[in-house]
Amino acid sequence: EAKDAGRNTLRFFDPAMQAALETRIAMETDLRRALTDGQLVLYYQPQVDSARRVVGAEALLRWQHPQRGLVMPASFIPLAEETGLIVPIGLWVLETACAQINAWSQAWPNERFVLAINVSARQFRHPDFVSQVRELLQRSGVAAERLKLELTESVILDDIDDAIRKMSALRSLGIGFSMDDFGTGYSSLSYLKRLPLDQLKIDQSFVRDIDTDPGDKVIVQTIIGMGCNLGLHVIAEGVENDAQVEFLEKQGCHAFQGYLFSRPLPADEFARKLLAG
Ligand code: C2E
Ligand code: MG
Ligand code: MG
Ligand code: MG
Repeated sequence: EAKDAGRNTLRFFDPAMQAALETRIAMETDLRRALTDGQLVLYYQPQVDSARRVVGAEALLRWQHPQRGLVMPASFIPLAEETGLIVPIGLWVLETACAQINAWSQAWPNERFVLAINVSARQFRHPDFVSQVRELLQRSGVAAERLKLELTESVILDDIDDAIRKMSALRSLGIGFSMDDFGTGYSSLSYLKRLPLDQLKIDQSFVRDIDTDPGDKVIVQTIIGMGCNLGLHVIAEGVENDAQVEFLEKQGCHAFQGYLFSRPLPADEFARKLLAG
């Protein structure tokens, strides 16, 4: 009887659970409003080649919240995924990125400049994803070669045949694909060979302690060697110091992204610092 009462208490009146639920509902309402009220912003972080030329950038989402200030993606992307809001948000990201490419098209540092965009699981899995991207390219007039989509291993492995189908369809238009956070998932050589990828992006967790951790050194060496042997472009994320670049470069890494070169910047600042001269 006491046990039953306990269960009922827990089920019908637990103030902590109630509070958590209310916070979540408030967050969801807020996030919905973020999209309609224009509170979402893209920041841009440059990617450089071994000559330190800016060859591209990654678009990184932020939420300019009226009360909470600048909110980082780790605090709202998971909720956006759970609620399905990631689908319209992801479309907003793609649209904004294309508009930015058009706005910058006069000031490209070079012909190869490519903008990388993160695509989440639920967004990629949506049956309309390919047609939405195709329509967006037509509508914006952006050349597909200017875009690269970053997918994580788990997104691809979730349904590998569907992923390959979608990637191939978009790749035939000219869109590139990068595997983000590479090394943290369950990659195996056999499926890596099957995937229509252009780039491997070494996860920052391996780059961080590259100087001091022999295990990370070997992992990074292996990833770069494997990528090169498969004919893929290899980029490292989270590069913060010269020693890291030196090691990565010696192993044959093609491009670098990290605070050493620049933090992610708002569009105007990115253009002023990195596209002007
Ligand atoms: P990610 O795609 O792996 O992005 C790299 C993250 O590392 C970014 O964090 C970036 O600001 C940070 N970073 C860059 N350089 C350095 C460095 O030198 N040191 C360190 N410690 N960190 C560095 P951010 O912007 O907080 O984004 C976190 C994650 O949120 C991203 O990881 C990505 O998975 C997700 N995300 C960001 N924007 C979007 C988006 O538009 N759509 C979706 N679906 N996910 C996004
Ligand atoms: Mg990324
Ligand atoms: Mg990454
Ligand atoms: Mg990462």
